[in-house]
Order: sequence, then C-alpha cells, then structure tokens
Amino acid sequence: MTFRATVLTLYPEMFPGTLGLSLAGRALTEGTWSLDTLQIREFATDRHRTVDDTPAGGGAGMVLKADIIAKAVDHASPQGDPRPRLLMSPRGRPLTQARVRALADGPGAVILCGRFEGVDQRVIDARGLEEVSIGDYILSGGEIAAQVLLDAVVRLLPGVMGNLASGEEESFESGMLEHPHYTRPAEFEGMAIPDVLTSGNHKKIAEWRRAQALALTRARRPDLLDEK
Ligand code: SAH
Repeated sequence: MTFRATVLTLYPEMFPGTLGLSLAGRALTEGTWSLDTLQIREFATDRHRTVDDTPAGGGAGMVLKADIIAKAVDHASPQGDPRPRLLMSPRGRPLTQARVRALADGPGAVILCGRFEGVDQRVIDARGLEEVSIGDYILSGGEIAAQVLLDAVVRLLPGVMGNLASGEEESFESGMLEHPHYTRPAEFEGMAIPDVLTSGNHKKIAEWRRAQALALTRARRPDLLDEK
C-alpha cells in the first residue's frame, strides 16, 4: 500500500525539496509513497487571491483565513478520506518517534503548512486539524516542518531502509538515546576504538552498547527515562 501525502501550502515549489533526494527520493520514484501539493491560493475567491487578513483584536502580522483553508482542506481530504489531517504548528504536541511510527503504519497524511501568524482557530476546530510541532522554536512557515515529519515517516515505510535492523536500534526506538559509533581507522588523533568493539564478543558488545546508551540518556535526556 502506498503512503499518500498531500501538502497544503503557499509554496508548493518548496516540495519535494529534500524529500526528492536520498532514501525518501528513491522511495518516491519507486512509488513506495506519493506526494501531492496543493496551492492554498487557488482557493481564494477575490481578484487579488487573498488568503490572509489582519488579526481580530489587533496585533502584528496576518492570519490565514478560515473560509479559504476550509475549502483547501475539503478539496484535499473529502469526507471518507481515512488520512489524518495535520497542521504544522509550534503550539502542537511535539512530534515523537512513536507518533511517526503510527503515521507510517497508516494510509498517509494531509498536512497543512501555516504561514504568517498562523491559521484562524475556527477552521482548526471545524476540520479537526491535529497540530504537530517539531520543536520549541519558531520557523517562518510549516513547509520545512512538514518535510521533517515526512522524512521521519518515509524512512520507516516497508522497503525504504536497506538494512531493516538499523531502524530498530536507533535513538528513541528503545526509549533511550543510541550508543556511540566508531569505524576505521583503528586510531584517530591518538584515540583508539574501544577494545570491546573489536573483541568479536557479541554478547559483551551488546552489553557495552546498552550501558553506553543508558549513561548517555541519563546525562543528556533523563526525561526519557522518567517516562517509563
Ligand atoms: N505566531 C505563531 C507562529 C507562526 S510561525 C506562534 O507564535 O505560535 C508560521 C508557521 O510556521 C506556523 O503556522 C506553522 O505552520 C509553522 N511553524 C513554525 N514553527 C513551527 C514548529 N516549531 N513546528 C511546526 N510548525 C511550525
């Protein structure tokens, strides 16, 4: 089954962007997933193709209009479309590997990219848009955030990653950060590769990696351990 992504944006030319290259790009060419963009401006009704207006109550910036966004969302995702409707938003629930995995197990996603100050609250409510954040900082638009989300999802689709095992050992999949990596040369600027990794003892290597992962997680992200 193909994972179908539809992105609603004022900048369709930003896509596929990074998603056209490397793993995601190959998977796109091979039809493992599909990507359609929809220009929000096409749903504007006036001569000037207006999509935004000044905020009610005053203040800086502009707000994407509910009526225009509703038409774009309804066009992209008619009733019965099983795909979740996402709005990239710094106010959303922070994206996690668990949410990414759930999306990858589903039929696809309809993703609205905000611009300006954001989107009229009424269309977020009326169309049940799930707000998703990629972190506690403000981007100028949702397009890069949408690419982050899709990149994380697409690499999990069946057949996209050559080495299936590598997905399972990654940071967060085990609830911890990943252990450090080393490769040749055996010595770099006076530093050797830890002996255990060249010992050939797979049980010892697994234990060492688990201990390193735990120590790193404790030092850098104790919050990940608290949640268990
Ligand atoms: N005034 C808003 C920020 C608007 S930024 C606020 O303070 O909450 C413009 C658009 O960029 C947003 O509508 C959203 O689509 C996108 N965006 C910005 N930061 C983001 C983030 N951390 N995660 C996801 N999308 C983001």
